[in-house]
Amino acid sequence: MHCSPDLRPLPHNLILEFVSIDARGNVTQCDCWVTSYPDYWFGNIFAPQSFSELLQKSGARRRFQARPEALMKHESCLGCEYLSICHGGCPVRTYSITGDSFVKDPYCQVYKAIFSTIEKIALNTASASRRRSLPALRMR
Ligand code: SF4
Repeated sequence: MHCSPDLRPLPHNLILEFVSIDARGNVTQCDCWVTSYPDYWFGNIFAPQSFSELLQKSGARRRFQARPEALMKHESCLGCEYLSICHGGCPVRTYSITGDSFVKDPYCQVYKAIFSTIEKIALNTASASRRRSLPALRMR
């Protein structure tokens, strides 16, 4: 289970953990947004308000914070075995392709294929490692 009963999903989601600031002082979620989408800037660090005020008053930031809950309610992510590492995919790629950041990443099937392949490789590696270490254990 990846979210609490009140649909506060993904406690380790990084939306609250970092921001990106460009050389002109514009603040947003990541460098892709700050480069391409002024409507998604949170504000500017050279404006008179404090950085805390900037973050608290930003409607754009509130939209980012609302995305996980929207995905849990309206997309198939809640039942996905890779939700805890995928989080519905990249918001800026999703917005760039669909014009809507409140849907899951259009590369969903690609993510699933990549995660599944990595999972198989990791399991095979762990299994081979265990087999290699068994003779050493028997010698004790
Ligand atoms: S892989 Fe697809 S369904 Fe799973 S969390 Fe990512 S976007 Fe959602």
